[in-house]
Amino acid sequence: MTVPSYRIGSIPGDGIGLEVISAAIEVVRKLSSTLKTFSIEFTDLPWGSDYWKKTGSYVPEDYLETYRKFDASLFGSVGAPDVPDHVSLWGLLLAIRSPLQLFANVRPVRTFPGTKSPLANPPPEGIDWVLVRENSEGEYSGHGGRSHVGQPWEVATEVAIFTRVGVVRILRFAFETAQSRPRKHLTVVSKSNSLRNGLVLWDEVAAEVARDFPDVTWDKTLVDAMTIRMVNNPHTIDTIVGTNLHMDILSDLAASLAGSIGIAASSNLDPTRKNPSMFEPVHGSAFDITGKGLANPLGAIWSAADMLTWLGEAPAADHLMECVKAVCRAGILTADLGGNAKTQDVVNAICEEIEHRG
Ligand code: ATP
Ligand code: MG
Repeated sequence: MTVPSYRIGSIPGDGIGLEVISAAIEVVRKLSSTLKTFSIEFTDLPWGSDYWKKTGSYVPEDYLETYRKFDASLFGSVGAPDVPDHVSLWGLLLAIRSPLQLFANVRPVRTFPGTKSPLANPPPEGIDWVLVRENSEGEYSGHGGRSHVGQPWEVATEVAIFTRVGVVRILRFAFETAQSRPRKHLTVVSKSNSLRNGLVLWDEVAAEVARDFPDVTWDKTLVDAMTIRMVNNPHTIDTIVGTNLHMDILSDLAASLAGSIGIAASSNLDPTRKNPSMFEPVHGSAFDITGKGLANPLGAIWSAADMLTWLGEAPAADHLMECVKAVCRAGILTADLGGNAKTQDVVNAICEEIEHRG
């Protein structure tokens, strides 16, 4: 019997990115060889800060051509202690996200069994949110500059760009995401009280798009108030959409409220499917724990599961997540979740669970 086969570009990047991506690949290979419902091949793309130190660039000249040949990519993290963060981020991650218009960044946040939320009153059934981050414009559009550098009258600008096309497509995607979930509720995060152009457009478009989704209830919350709501009234939240910068911040908060940033997964999607989407844990390169075997691999493994779902292998992805939950329930947790398991202990336990369930 022939089964669907997928070619994945693996971009581990820097720091713990290498550890968590190799963990995710090991688990997915085990899943594929056990279930035999799909086959998968990973090709290592060694782009990152070491590559930059050798060549002066984070990626080879023809990197987009190379990237486009894959069905999807699995990304670790980028950033090194001796490289300014904006250099590494724009050198690799944004160099892929921006030209390929991977405009929807989906960040599910869930409490896993056996883990603890720092909230005093978490929702009884645990946190279960989906955060949708606009991934191509806003404060990360790359427009702006500096003049009179070093002078007392130096000026630096960072222009937040919002286009109607860009705002419509992300809000439409967010309403569709909310519609696909049982509670069918969307919170649109804004800041239109003080940002009087871009975020006012954002609010107007939200109201227009909402008309096409009569079965979805929605509310608008200012980003500052949203941080309070996430802590004090987490049960009122289901799907959240916001700008590039706002959701960058809120998704770290959300991940911590659910247990640890080490679990959080994300998908950088091109919903038009013209370009290969990219799947990556939310956390960064975390050099403080690199090389110590302490990295929680669940964010990368969950991202790989979301990649399988995107590729059309939802049953395999669901099966993998059930195995992950069973391992959490058994208390095999890394230090960030209060346990004493090492990265490889978690990987081994998940592989055994896959084997055990057949
Ligand atoms: P970036 O600059 O890309 O955000 P970072 O090095 O600041 O990267 P973060 O991902 O922001 O790292 O994480 C902050 C801290 O959380 C890390 O320094 C680390 O101690 C912890 N942490 C992050 N990811 C993990 C993980 N997968 N497992 C365990 N601890 C983690
Ligand atoms: Mg950080």
